Amino acid sequence: MLKVAFLDRDGVINNDLGYVYQIDDFEFAEGSIEALKLLQDNGFSIIVITNQSGIGRGYYSERDYQVLTEWYIQRLVEKGIVVADVYHCPHAPEDNCICRKPKAGLFLQALSRHSVDLSSSLMVGDKLSDIAAANIAGVKQSYLIGEHLNSHLPSYKNLLACVQAHCDGEKILSKEK
Ligand SMILES: [Mg+2]
Ligand SMILES: [Zn+2]
Repeated sequence: MLKVAFLDRDGVINNDLGYVYQIDDFEFAEGSIEALKLLQDNGFSIIVITNQSGIGRGYYSERDYQVLTEWYIQRLVEKGIVVADVYHCPHAPEDNCICRKPKAGLFLQALSRHSVDLSSSLMVGDKLSDIAAANIAGVKQSYLIGEHLNSHLPSYKNLLACVQAHCDGEKILSKEK
C-alpha cells in the first residue's frame, strides 16, 4: 500500500497568481522542489489534487491545462522527482460537480486507482476546502500552509516547512516504537 502525499497545486507547488495556465506564469513556490524531494526520500508517493475552475469558467482550455501539467511534471522529473498521478476538477462552482474541493471526488478517483494507506498519508493545501476534502476522503493528516491566523489546524509557512516538520515527527515516532 502506498503512503501518499496528496498535494494541492496552486499555492502549494507553485505560487498562486490566480488561474495559472501558461508556462511563463508557473513559478515553483519557494522550497517546493526541495519539499517534493524530501517527501519522496521519506517514502511518499506524490499525487496532485487540483481545482481548475478556470477551465469551466472559460479562462483556459483543458488542453492548456494538460500542456502546463506535462511541462511542470517534466521539470520535476529533471530534478529526480516522480509525480505518481495528477487529478483535476475542470468544473466551475455552479456546475455542482462531485469533484470540486471541498468535495472528495478527486480523492476518491485517486483511491480507486491506487492502493493507498490512508493512515500514513497526508494532504497539504493552502485553503480550508483542501483540508475538508481530504478529511471526507479519510486522509489521516492534513496541513494548511500560508497565512491562516484563525485556523486551529497545524499551519506552516510553506510546503517545505510543513514537510520538514512532518518527517521529523515521523522519525521521533519511529524511534519511540
Ligand atoms: Mg491552492
Ligand atoms: Zn468537478
